[in-house]
Amino acid sequence: MCGVVGIIGKEEAPLWTSRGLYALQHRGHDSCGIAYINAENQLSVHSGKGAVADVLPNELTQAIDSRACLGQNLYTTYGSSHSPQPFGGRFWDADGKIHQVAVVHNGQLCGLDRLRKKYPNMYSSHSDSEVIFALLPHMKGKSILEKIISLVSELEGAFSLIFLSEEGLTAVRDSNGFRPLVLGNADAGETMLASEVNAFDLMGGHFEREVDAGEIIHTSWEGERSFFHLENRKEKLTQCVFEHIYFARPDNQLFGKPGYSTQQELGIQAARELKGKIDADVVVPVPDSATIASIAFAREIGLPMEMGLLRHHFASRTFITRGQSNRERAVRLKFNIVKDVIQGKKIILSDDSLVRSTTSKILIKMLKDGGAKEVHLVLFSPHITHSCIYGINTPTREELIAYRMEMDNDRIAAEINADSTTYLSIEGLRTAMKQTKDQYCYACMNGDYPIAKDGQLTGAS
Ligand code: SF4
Repeated sequence: MCGVVGIIGKEEAPLWTSRGLYALQHRGHDSCGIAYINAENQLSVHSGKGAVADVLPNELTQAIDSRACLGQNLYTTYGSSHSPQPFGGRFWDADGKIHQVAVVHNGQLCGLDRLRKKYPNMYSSHSDSEVIFALLPHMKGKSILEKIISLVSELEGAFSLIFLSEEGLTAVRDSNGFRPLVLGNADAGETMLASEVNAFDLMGGHFEREVDAGEIIHTSWEGERSFFHLENRKEKLTQCVFEHIYFARPDNQLFGKPGYSTQQELGIQAARELKGKIDADVVVPVPDSATIASIAFAREIGLPMEMGLLRHHFASRTFITRGQSNRERAVRLKFNIVKDVIQGKKIILSDDSLVRSTTSKILIKMLKDGGAKEVHLVLFSPHITHSCIYGINTPTREELIAYRMEMDNDRIAAEINADSTTYLSIEGLRTAMKQTKDQYCYACMNGDYPIAKDGQLTGAS
């Protein structure tokens, strides 16, 4: 999971792009970068390891004279690139014409072996994102847009892409719609793109609509838009339900749903499933990702909610921190307990999900050491039992506590020293998503993968 942003036709485009990336920092902080075409028509890339405020400071971005820019916050997933994005550069086509292109990618491709066999000797690394950039020059078509359309027609898996070239800015979203991508504009009609709507607030833009699954939107330098569709458009989408549970901000609209009320629905459904089953005094949410759902959960279950855990706001998100020891250190640095709230109390500790259990285990110990009488863990998601192959970092099943403990809630509670552990059911999650027809991927919860790693459709429901 990463955050991508693009803009064309607006003065100070690199500055606005960096602001959009700043708003999407929660989607990845391994590295970040921008690519732009300047007033002399030269494509340049600037990227580095770390957060947007450090890699793309205002002094740097506002000094660049450019009206078209794209950028990315990288969150490295298994099999994906560790290299900062964007990927960009020049190439000569068969007619000897020079092109310059940059690309940013959110998601993870499937079927790379098939592509490697079909187009051998064109890769400098094992990264899926670099494959996109490496293959583009070899695609059919005279124009960059034609080459992009040829290329994305061959890709399988999860990809929300933005390309910048001498022809303009091009957005692509895969036919399953795994990762979000939204279209916006600024007051003078300039085109903006972003992973999440809230980026437009800091880019001085307005939300228009989502880029449809399987849609390609090209905006020329003159601001004219053209629309295309991939031939393998799906009737049924498999958007990532985990985006709602953990990643997307509540001040947002995601997959056509308002983030805040969707998270509240998770809390309401969890409370309905749990009512009368736990004797507790107070609900303590894990801030910030469980706070909104917990407000509705506490109200529905009839308990007070108190902030018995506080987080340091300069700490990063622990799930997207790489390496187990780094994650443990990050949890310690990130949270503190409020003893007055928890001492002598039977607590429901509410969290969005339980993946590896690193955070929960440490928090339960902190709460018990701080005087909590009992700690019952309630999750606003079902058991996470399978790895994600579409861009969320759950590389091996053995790392997933629900898989290791065979979805036995008592064993899971014992493992993390909780007095009980309760999950939202998949049915409860589907109800919370208020689906008229199933629009979501649940593969990490039920193993029903819509596309296999080798790129084959599995016929999953
Ligand atoms: Fe999202 Fe899970 Fe599907 Fe991955 S497997 S796309 S995390 S729902």
